[in-house]
Amino acid sequence: MVDPTRPTAPATNPANAPEPGRDFVRDIVQADLDAGRVGAIVTRFPPEPNGYLHIGHAKSICLNFGIAQEYGGHCNLRFDDTNPVKEEQEFIDSIQQDVHWLGFDWGEHKYFASDYFDTLYAWAEHLVRAGLAYVDDTSAEETRTMRGTLTEPGRESPDRNRTVAENLDLFRRMRAGEFPNGARVLRAKIDMAAGNMNLRDPVLYRILHAAHPRTGDAWCIYPTYDYAHGQSDAIEGVTHSICTLEFDDHRPLYDWFIEHLPVPARPHQYEFARLNITYTVLSKRILTTLVRQGHVSGWDDPRMPTLAGQRRRGVPPAALREFVRSVGVARAYSVVDVAMYEHAIREVLNATAPRRMAVLRPLKVVIENWEEGRTETLEAVNNPEDPSAGTRPVTFGRTIYIEREDFMEYPPNRFHRLSPGREVRLRYAYFITCRSVVKNDRDEVVELRCTYDPATRGGDAPDGRKVRGTLHWVAAHDAVPAELRLYNPLFSRPDPGADGDIMADLSPDSLEVLTGALLEPALAGVAAGAVVQFERQGYFCADPDATPEALVFNRTVGLRDTWAKVQAGAKGG
Ligand code: ATP
Ligand code: MG
Repeated sequence: MVDPTRPTAPATNPANAPEPGRDFVRDIVQADLDAGRVGAIVTRFPPEPNGYLHIGHAKSICLNFGIAQEYGGHCNLRFDDTNPVKEEQEFIDSIQQDVHWLGFDWGEHKYFASDYFDTLYAWAEHLVRAGLAYVDDTSAEETRTMRGTLTEPGRESPDRNRTVAENLDLFRRMRAGEFPNGARVLRAKIDMAAGNMNLRDPVLYRILHAAHPRTGDAWCIYPTYDYAHGQSDAIEGVTHSICTLEFDDHRPLYDWFIEHLPVPARPHQYEFARLNITYTVLSKRILTTLVRQGHVSGWDDPRMPTLAGQRRRGVPPAALREFVRSVGVARAYSVVDVAMYEHAIREVLNATAPRRMAVLRPLKVVIENWEEGRTETLEAVNNPEDPSAGTRPVTFGRTIYIEREDFMEYPPNRFHRLSPGREVRLRYAYFITCRSVVKNDRDEVVELRCTYDPATRGGDAPDGRKVRGTLHWVAAHDAVPAELRLYNPLFSRPDPGADGDIMADLSPDSLEVLTGALLEPALAGVAAGAVVQFERQGYFCADPDATPEALVFNRTVGLRDTWAKVQAGAKGG
């Protein structure tokens, strides 16, 4: 997401980014291997199971699993499950499903930070014994004010000079459950005057009487992220702990723990810039709010930037991987144009999605010189990009439907579709000419009366006569009804929340439902998850919400590629 506290940068052209597939993290890995500083490469993807994965996580997954694959190492999936209040089994399950869907596999390397609770606790006692950690009774509120600011040093807690024996006793009693939530914490004893605020005696353990999805009631104190993360890396033998830039100034603390604890390995942390996309929020906290407050139908609402939402929308995992690859990995803050993401989706779907005809907003057309009851089977190409996809039959008849917007009674100059007296081509079928219109009592056109030219079967006139428009259509006798869900960006501005209230930037037009659409019969019985191109309309994915009465399709993305245009414009100067 666009961090509201941060000045918004203009959307950058990733053409200026470093060459995709080659980046500073891979350079570091290569250099470490060349110098013999590491043996096998071990990375990790460390989600906190407090929400569903989003497109930003896909960047981290592709980077961590990608590097492990490229350098013959492995990548651990590690659940960073140190805060039982926010974490749920549902999220643990969805995260695994989504990483697999994206095309990566952790094999036997699935871990949980909670597996290390005993070790982490023993190491905390080690710090206490070494005089490097103390139990502090100061209230959270007061601790905050005593921490100082960027320009002012912090103040030391009166508990900072407790004896080792006293600290050990209190810490053990914290663990034994003798104190209520928030009564005390265990802090590292580092430097309250450190320029880096993270070194001002950070908290290692807090009291939290809450059941944990995995350890149940075994613990009532839980380690903080800062204390658990590097030590988990060390336990797992992670060589390159790759995270996002907000952890940049946590690195000295990461190193401090590794230095002062009897860890079995010395991992190193490297930071890269998070993925930000225009019109998109990539923050679990805000995504959780959208779900809880019902602004979307759930974590897998196709408008959500979650992997589950994008999957339901019809985005192929290959498109996500390609998008992430083309964005590249850098340390500079940037915002990627959402059009670039859509471009990656179209590239994959253009090659793979079968073409079908669907009329979104039908207008009835009667072919007056076509006999009642007569039908004729024609041949339609499944994918012009892929001859091996073959053809399918489509059946023509006296009554068909065309797109309402493909007809204008009083057309402006540049309108080349159907109008009274005009001739157009019906895709795979015949030329038709509009002879008259039928209106209702509100003066709206409800039906067109047309004639067809039998000599134009298949779409060409033997006399060489040209028409300027080619329309898609469905036949009335075998069309299949469907509900189509058209999605627009969930937020109405490229930098949601830049003015403070992110919910105020929710777009009222993010979902448009069309209930009267008609599809060609080849789509009957299509399996949920299948993606097709509705000719001239866009890519659509069959949704599991289908009923016996009507299919349901989600618009994955329209056909107009604004990103390709931007690129062409940039090349042209
Ligand atoms: P959020 O801010 O959405 O809550 P998070 O970083 O707190 O994200 P985690 O579950 O801790 O969520 O993230 C797991 C990994 O994914 C971390 O290493 C994190 O740095 C990375 N990650 C999260 N968001 C992005 C993003 N937008 N771009 C790249 N990597 C990301
Ligand atoms: Mg995090």
